Amino acid sequence: MFDTGGFGDRPELIRRLQDRGIRLTDIDYVILSHMHFDHAANVSMFPQATVYLHEAEVQHAKAARFDDFALCTEVLEMLQQGSRLKLLTGADGVVEGHRWMHTPGHTPGGISIILKGEDGANWVAAGDAVKNLHEAETGDVWMSMDRRASQESIQKVLSIADYIIPGHDRQIRIQHTEGECRLSAKSDSEITIEVAGDVPTPFKVSDVDGGLQSKTRRLLLQLHPDQGESDF
Ligand SMILES: [Zn+2]
Repeated sequence: MFDTGGFGDRPELIRRLQDRGIRLTDIDYVILSHMHFDHAANVSMFPQATVYLHEAEVQHAKAARFDDFALCTEVLEMLQQGSRLKLLTGADGVVEGHRWMHTPGHTPGGISIILKGEDGANWVAAGDAVKNLHEAETGDVWMSMDRRASQESIQKVLSIADYIIPGHDRQIRIQHTEGECRLSAKSDSEITIEVAGDVPTPFKVSDVDGGLQSKTRRLLLQLHPDQGESDF
């Protein structure tokens, strides 16, 4: 399991696991992208699981307990009372057979994992290192503790991903091309970003088709009519 969602996600989480014939006690490890409540709050639902966090996130959670209001410090305290918490250190590695990389910025200890599709494609579950399409498209982040680190993390994710699973948006397909970085809204259900070999820092995806970013926002508004334009 990578991230557990917030309290409000519990019914959906339970339903989706049940649909796959998975009991809560079957989950033997949980990798947390970071300690915010909307990603970490449901760890207690998986009592058998070893829980992995980056050590920088634990340090942040201890230091910023009353400054970062999204921190789920109670979960960390629960984990530290037992022996289930395992810390990841450094820039990257392998955990439970999955590659992970440190993707700080949103918080100091954010991590992403890289899953291999059957066709060899890299699926990057990015947590809040890439929260949504807008951040992947522009590098323009909000709710970041370190904007430069966030942009470098997005750059890392774009460089390696064939698909991004953002923290708060639907999946984004990345096409690595020789030309310019391009985003194309091919249909209502598929967004593709074309990425040239090297992603510049700080990067800005070229708006090759003119007005493409506003087209994308319109597309997102069609898909999520209940949200205002400022939400994207
Ligand atoms: Zn977060």
